[in-house]
Amino acid sequence: MDHTKTQSPVAVIGNGPVGQTTALLLARWGVPVLLLDDRPERDLVGSKAICQQRDVLDIWASVGVGQQIATEGVSWRTARTFYHDQEVFSYTMPEVGSSPFPAFVNISQSRTEKLLDDQIAKQPLIDARWSHHVTGLTQDSSGVQLECQTPSGVKHLNASHAVVCAGSRGRDLRKTLGVTFEGRSFDDHFLICDIETDMPGWSNERRFYFDPAWNPGRQVLVHPCPDSTFRIDWQVPSDYDLEAEERSGALDERIRKIIGDKPYRIVWNSVYRFHARLTDRFRVGRVLLAGDCAHIVAPFGARGLNSGAADAENAAWKIAFVRHGWADEELLESYHDERRAAAIENLEITNATMDFLVPQDEAGWKKRRSILERAAHDESARAEVNSGRLCEPFWYTESALTTPNPTHPFAGRPARGQAPSAGPGVLLPDIPVSAKGQAPRRLHEYARDGWLFLVAPGADMAAVHAAAAGCGAPAKVLAIDAVDIRGSLAQALASRAGEVWLVRPDAYVAAVLDRPDAAALDAALQNARGRGRTKVGAATV
Ligand SMILES: Cc1cc2nc3c(=O)[nH]c(=O)nc-3n(C[C@H](O)[C@H](O)[C@H](O)COP(=O)(O)OP(=O)(O)OC[C@H]3O[C@@H](n4cnc5c(N)ncnc54)[C@H](O)[C@@H]3O)c2cc1C
Repeated sequence: MDHTKTQSPVAVIGNGPVGQTTALLLARWGVPVLLLDDRPERDLVGSKAICQQRDVLDIWASVGVGQQIATEGVSWRTARTFYHDQEVFSYTMPEVGSSPFPAFVNISQSRTEKLLDDQIAKQPLIDARWSHHVTGLTQDSSGVQLECQTPSGVKHLNASHAVVCAGSRGRDLRKTLGVTFEGRSFDDHFLICDIETDMPGWSNERRFYFDPAWNPGRQVLVHPCPDSTFRIDWQVPSDYDLEAEERSGALDERIRKIIGDKPYRIVWNSVYRFHARLTDRFRVGRVLLAGDCAHIVAPFGARGLNSGAADAENAAWKIAFVRHGWADEELLESYHDERRAAAIENLEITNATMDFLVPQDEAGWKKRRSILERAAHDESARAEVNSGRLCEPFWYTESALTTPNPTHPFAGRPARGQAPSAGPGVLLPDIPVSAKGQAPRRLHEYARDGWLFLVAPGADMAAVHAAAAGCGAPAKVLAIDAVDIRGSLAQALASRAGEVWLVRPDAYVAAVLDRPDAAALDAALQNARGRGRTKVGAATV
């Protein structure tokens, strides 16, 4: 794509996985990027995130790495839960829809970062600079000005916009921007070891142990990873000393209690304290905050990097549309509204998990014991066992960019592993379709090229084509009955005669309109571009 209107780059501050994803997505929209990081180079030692969700693989597929991550990762669908040494229940995640990606894959964050780096190296629009510690950030109506400490002295760089992906270490930048980062930190610590060993029976399932005899009163989580590696995560007291355990041989004993006397190699280990924090502003004028810099959650449920990648996609299409003149600057305010709402949901869910894993008082411990004791034989108690609710996409049903339709209401979160019914604010089902004379493509691939209009029989096709041609941005019109090669699209949408579905560039449905005329199509497009939104504390530049 070559739609660049202004030549100054967008600065992405932080070359972690969220910054990498943001940079690649912006470049995909034809936007030049300055990708800055204070580290001297990528240090691939260790790993944090392992568990990546289907819709994030889809985002990464749009920049050329999702399929490789999915292929290299271990896909698992069975989750087993134990209390003491007894299995109390297990569940297998159902396959949802026709996405080419598994529900989750496990792969080390360091491998994901390496694959994203390889893609960045091929992208001429990304200028990645290490050893650039951003120490100053100001902005005015012309753009953003950065001050960087580098080995060759202080450098001043200009950008049209900035996305701050500086992770949990972004405190000084948050301070410069005048935003808060309120929340709490959890007392207990977590010892995490990636261990290479041979445990074939464990290689495609996740195991969660509450109060095993070998970690009494606390829990242990075991996840399979590629190359016969297992992520073992022990909850440990706040005064836990990893070096002392390594020296005394207690770490070896700890590991042997799980894997027996098999040979093993520690690939990586570390001790973490988890936090739950959120910034009050995701947008300050021309600057957006994304990933761990904007929100940090405990990792049970894998909602950190997965939600950071969703931030990246939301930020990238909106900045690209503003820069290309396809939307006004006010579209950026919807980034704050939408992604802060997503972060609040993630915090609520992960905090509930932490409260179950680490009860704050004796009453909480008593309740937890009772639930776990009943879970082996009582279905309702199982539903209360909270070992982490796995990441799902956030639904923009309440967003001002979404035009609601009472005939396609949002029925709330579906049961674990099930897709919600399609409708305004929900991700479009990812179904392969075939436009006339073209090879089959997934609907999400079409959506990511601009606005997508899906038109049911009986709608005014000429009005839709006119709206697409006049919207001033890339747009594609597909007649549902013409492209529905498997006959599954109309069924997945539950679309009715005369309907027009307007889909955003991140594959979320913006509107479902019933026999719309030009004015109704225009109104839905205006909403989706942020022009119809009620301003909620809009930031000033
Ligand atoms: C033990 C553990 C397990 C986890 N498991 C999962 C999981 O299974 N799934 C999941 O989705 N998430 C998981 N997470 C969360 C995930 O690791 C983070 O959400 C993710 O690393 C955030 O990426 P980021 O790019 O926002 O920040 P980071 O990875 O922290 O990157 C920030 C970058 O910004 C740079 N930087 C900082 N300040 C500046 C500055 N002033 N100037 C220039 N550069 C700067 C830093 O050098 C760094 O490279 C886990 C986390 C932990 C700790």
